[in-house]
Amino acid sequence: MFRAQDRIEVKTPAQIDAMRVAGLVVAKTLQRVAGMTKAGVTTADMDECAAASIRDEGATPSFLGYHGFPAHICVSVNDEVVHGIPGPRRLADGDVVSVDCGAIVDGWHGDAAVTVLVGKSAVNLAELSRVTEQSLWAGLWAARAGNRLSDIGHAVESAIRSAGPQYGIVEDYVGHGIGSRMHMEPAVPNYGRPGKGPRLVPGMALAIEPMVVLGDAGVHVLDDDWTVVASDGSYASHWEHTVAVTDDGPWVLTALDDVRL
Ligand code: MG
Ligand code: MG
Repeated sequence: MFRAQDRIEVKTPAQIDAMRVAGLVVAKTLQRVAGMTKAGVTTADMDECAAASIRDEGATPSFLGYHGFPAHICVSVNDEVVHGIPGPRRLADGDVVSVDCGAIVDGWHGDAAVTVLVGKSAVNLAELSRVTEQSLWAGLWAARAGNRLSDIGHAVESAIRSAGPQYGIVEDYVGHGIGSRMHMEPAVPNYGRPGKGPRLVPGMALAIEPMVVLGDAGVHVLDDDWTVVASDGSYASHWEHTVAVTDDGPWVLTALDDVRL
């Protein structure tokens, strides 16, 4: 019988260690880019910072040229949800900026995203980012051997729903398996009922990436064929980590510190 689980790449412990090297490049790069994300900086400046960081770490950017994507990171500002293209846009106080980064080392991928608040931001926007990040950690916690795949999405959704009715969960874009390629089986939605789908086993690696809007969750793609925006103009937040299912629990491969949950 063909099972969904058979399509999911299962890595050896040594291969997971190799993914950690790529994950650390992503973590360091996001830290550097987040550190320079300030009013007056352009999103192209941020891309330059990421390019230098990935190169100096001896890694290859996964986004540059991916289906023709023209930059090293995605930078999505305010109502932009994901896949924003860096360019001449100059950041201003109060902006909500999501940065998504991928890197490859020895053929293994890491993928993560953070949301940065520029300057002094409104309380409800800080809360949007906090709720999104917390839902990510709820999902990471559920990336545990013996759980089923949908337990992750259920954990993410539950965290967001419990934070209040003002948040919309973007359903058109989801997390994914990751390893020898950036996007692999399975899809990892940020919603769903628990106890469904393949059982998680040590050696699987997943990118979990909730996208939350402060409004309606409907989105569409701009004419640049990349930038995904909230259709009602709401602010959006995006947080992501790559996590490995291990015998010792979920290992967050794109965290700066050695985080095992
Ligand atoms: Mg990403
Ligand atoms: Mg991803």
